[in-house]
Amino acid sequence: MNSAQGRLSMAASPSSVSGLEVLLSTLQNSGDTASTLNILNVLDELLSAGTDRRIHYMISKGGSEALLTTLVNTCCNASPNYTMLLPLLHLLAKIGHRDRHIGLKAEKAGAVLLTLNLLKHNIKQARRASACLWVIQVLSSSVSTAKLIGENHGLDIIYSLLPQYTTKHLLTVKAAIHAFAALLCTKTNVCLAVSKGYISGLLRLYEDWHGKGSQHGAPAICHALLRCLHKVTHRTTGRQAIISQGGIKLLHQITQTCLSNKGLETLVEPTVQLMRKCLPKTCIPLASDRSAYTFALPGRPHFVPDTELASGIAYTDGSSEDSDDEEADDSQEADKDYDDDLETDVSKLRLRPDPDRPKNLLPQYSCFCPEFSYNFQEMDLVSEQEESSTTSSSSSDEDIVLLNSLFSHSTRKNRKRNSSTCELSPSLSRSNSETGVSSTAAALMEAHDFHRNNDTHSANLGVRTIERQAKEQDCRYQRQDGQDHKEKHAQQSQSHRTMIDILLERRRACIPNHEPKLYCSAAAKARSIPGFTILAFPDFWGHISPSGREPMAPRKPDIQRKKVLEDIQRFLNTGDIINRVVFDLEDDTLQGPSDSLWFFSKFESGNLRKAVQVRRYEYDLILNADANCSQHSQWFYFEVSNMMAEVPYRFNIINCEKSNSQFNYGMQPVLYSVREALEGRPHWIRSGTEVCYFRNHFYPTRGRMKTSFYTLTFTITFKHSEDVCYLAYHYPYTYSALKTHLNVLQKSVDPAKVFFRQQILCHTLSGNSCPLVTITACPASSGMKDMQQLRDRPCIMLTARVHPGESNASWVMKGTLEFLCSSDLVAQSLREAFVFKIIPMLNPDGVINGMNRCDLNSEDLNRQWCKPDPILNPTIYHTKGLLYYLNSIGRTPLVFCDYHGHSRKKNVFLYGCSVKETLWQSGSPVDTVGLKEDPGYRTIPKALDRIAPAFSFNSCNYLVEKSRSATARVVVWREMGVLRSYTMESTYNGCNQGIYKGLQIGTLDLQEMGVKFCQSLLSLTRDTTFFYSRSLVNHINLDHNILDHNSHNCFEDDEPPFIEDIEYSTDCTALKGTDLDSDVNSNIPSADEESEGDEEHMATQDWQDCIGQSQ
Ligand SMILES: [Zn+2]
Repeated sequence: MNSAQGRLSMAASPSSVSGLEVLLSTLQNSGDTASTLNILNVLDELLSAGTDRRIHYMISKGGSEALLTTLVNTCCNASPNYTMLLPLLHLLAKIGHRDRHIGLKAEKAGAVLLTLNLLKHNIKQARRASACLWVIQVLSSSVSTAKLIGENHGLDIIYSLLPQYTTKHLLTVKAAIHAFAALLCTKTNVCLAVSKGYISGLLRLYEDWHGKGSQHGAPAICHALLRCLHKVTHRTTGRQAIISQGGIKLLHQITQTCLSNKGLETLVEPTVQLMRKCLPKTCIPLASDRSAYTFALPGRPHFVPDTELASGIAYTDGSSEDSDDEEADDSQEADKDYDDDLETDVSKLRLRPDPDRPKNLLPQYSCFCPEFSYNFQEMDLVSEQEESSTTSSSSSDEDIVLLNSLFSHSTRKNRKRNSSTCELSPSLSRSNSETGVSSTAAALMEAHDFHRNNDTHSANLGVRTIERQAKEQDCRYQRQDGQDHKEKHAQQSQSHRTMIDILLERRRACIPNHEPKLYCSAAAKARSIPGFTILAFPDFWGHISPSGREPMAPRKPDIQRKKVLEDIQRFLNTGDIINRVVFDLEDDTLQGPSDSLWFFSKFESGNLRKAVQVRRYEYDLILNADANCSQHSQWFYFEVSNMMAEVPYRFNIINCEKSNSQFNYGMQPVLYSVREALEGRPHWIRSGTEVCYFRNHFYPTRGRMKTSFYTLTFTITFKHSEDVCYLAYHYPYTYSALKTHLNVLQKSVDPAKVFFRQQILCHTLSGNSCPLVTITACPASSGMKDMQQLRDRPCIMLTARVHPGESNASWVMKGTLEFLCSSDLVAQSLREAFVFKIIPMLNPDGVINGMNRCDLNSEDLNRQWCKPDPILNPTIYHTKGLLYYLNSIGRTPLVFCDYHGHSRKKNVFLYGCSVKETLWQSGSPVDTVGLKEDPGYRTIPKALDRIAPAFSFNSCNYLVEKSRSATARVVVWREMGVLRSYTMESTYNGCNQGIYKGLQIGTLDLQEMGVKFCQSLLSLTRDTTFFYSRSLVNHINLDHNILDHNSHNCFEDDEPPFIEDIEYSTDCTALKGTDLDSDVNSNIPSADEESEGDEEHMATQDWQDCIGQSQ
């Protein structure tokens, strides 16, 4: 038999399968050395020529067992025949490496302790020792085998041979360390190694080998040692041992030398990972994770909505990482979820569920179609009435509160009794339709000057901010000390008001569509949980986009490493650590020390809970969880002052929750400088260097098992000393900014042409009004034909900001609103073609209170659309009610779009709904060929792809996921039958395609997107109305490709895996995979290697002769 035959028998028909089996059986029973060697050689040839598949085939045919039996048989003799043993052990290592059950098989065959014994007797014979060590390494893949070896002093034997070998026997050293590492897969063995002081030994060994530099194969040994140490860190005792043996300090020092030696660079990443794993888990410095803001929900005075707390799982120090199986790979899990998540139930995709409420509740919403009841003949007269009626706008606000409580109440009642109608009284209905209409700015200011309601303490702070600016601006105001508090406050109030006036007078802000004084009055009416009385300057003063675009920030390749090493330094050099709380949202008495930055966040949309000065110019910042819960920290917006110019300050937001962020891919936070604003540059600008995002060593105070926190770190160098600056996750857009904007817009339109109505859809849980805007064109005349045309106009419904942290959605909406009110020809045409129903902020409470995801009920409102609760989810309940109503009168919207922001992706894109695409993508067996579906859902994305530079058609999808079944998009599509029902997702970062490629998105781009979305609606007028005209299409280039951009055909959703590991709990990727096969193959004597005795030499001769014969 020769190897060629053997190869044939492996590959071909079942009849020849027996060839391998015969070979294996002969091997076990053969008594003579020559034939055994021959067979081993044939097997080795077979396996080395093929792929892993051959080895697995051999395993399936009992190859492992045959080799183990042969091993046991060979060792029965008093003096084992090493000529045979060596190739046998080599083959066993190669096959066992791929056999998951090799350990158990070896235990069964009685080969485990035998191999250990063999090693013990050959400690001084490098090649024999290596062969045994590889087998031990392979056998230890089974936990029970590793344990068995550990119990029989395996660790001690291997540890004792380590110092005996040097660079001359690299293979043996490496084999020993890998075997040692493999044994550390069990908790008992790690404990053994710790108790015997082997950890410190491994550390010293690492130091020694590292000292040899990049010569003599030392880096490979260092790698193996790091692998060992990584294994140790899977256990709490192991981590503690490394710390107590000065491991972190040692590794940190060594890393510094690696950084300067190119040949050792590959050791840096695994060493840094190792240190990250060892850092003691630290509880986030908060008394409780629960939000500093709590709100008593109606009917539930002691409501504790946090579900995780209820589960009562206690979090212990990092021990969640102690499990035997490592945490699953995030990305893989996400992929799996995605496929499972697609809705494959055709009836669920196609059938419309029953309405969630009785029909008789719908007529109430007729008041939200004011375009029908409006008397266009008396246009002038009515607008006068409106102006006078709003002098008492607050009282009509109160009417609405009454109206809504009545409304919700009766809805509940009706649901229960399932009878009786609830109709709005004509008077309530009237006041409802006419609220929110602003009178002149002056009148509003008189009535609601924001300062009048300010409470004393925070008012002082508010004054403080502007006061400093005022001084710089040479205002008359001088602070006067030594008066009693009340007097002082009165004076400050007075001065504050004067100051605002003076500032506005001197430094005309000139922000388009913004009026600071209107903002003040809007903010005074906003109801927040803590009762905000301070305005953040940027919201009050306004923002305009800076001229010039802002490119994505280039990322230095090793920036994360640098930051992590700085963080590790905190444990090593405590000398420069200050650790001083300088701001606490819950402690009003805390004054910022004179030698630290000052922070503040108690204003609309503000979010910063605590600031800790870590070093002279470094601060740990902790965000506030969403109100009434202990999660979702991501959005931040705070004021910072008392800075020095030209000093780099490092900020670390240490309780971020998402596992990755666009901050790792070129995104920067935004900064607004009051000083710059007053000098004529009122801009939010992208700011911050050395931006990166990675997992840290903090854990929550309680209740959340397996929760990891992430650090967002960035460095800001302020331009001016003594400035007041604001930092935010993204361009803020407050509720009061929306209210101001709507009032300004309303004043800006020509009432003879544009029908613009602001109404209050409902009130939120904390009593804020949720605005509904209707925009359409006034009819050309009040004649029958024109009035009929008005009635026939299809509806378009647009909503935004259901997720409060997605301020980008508001900027897109701002663009939409301004465009629809403009005199642009396309806008005019769209108004004549459609009636727009816009709810620009579905979650005012969340926005006001600086929340990221939820409403005050700690629920994601965009998961409540199936059965919204009239009391707990009023904005969703009534938006859906309005949709039902439009449906019931035959005016189902032609398009529905909910504006969102996407934190993990670039560009702007749409999610839609398609039965066919969902079934097709899910691999459903349902035949989609016969399924009829209007492809019209693709019209708008196609149009946007051509006209909107930030838009990426390739990022869109139209899949209906089960996990999204209660979102606006899916419910409006399924329940209302709206074919074009979308979620529009806008990036926080920027674009990676088109003409904006490589640029961060600015408010102008976001607003442009809002405009483009409107323009894309023109594509729908083509066949539905006669208003479509060629010239308009030319106007926006709809049919020309001037703006056409080549979007890459990348359906790739997420960013490529990042070069630096954001995580560190899983096995260090830099250390994965051993080159066991090549090591085994090279375990033959070379000329310069010391002979291990004549016997050995002879045996090799014999062996090679045998090889010769077999060939
Ligand atoms: Zn969202």
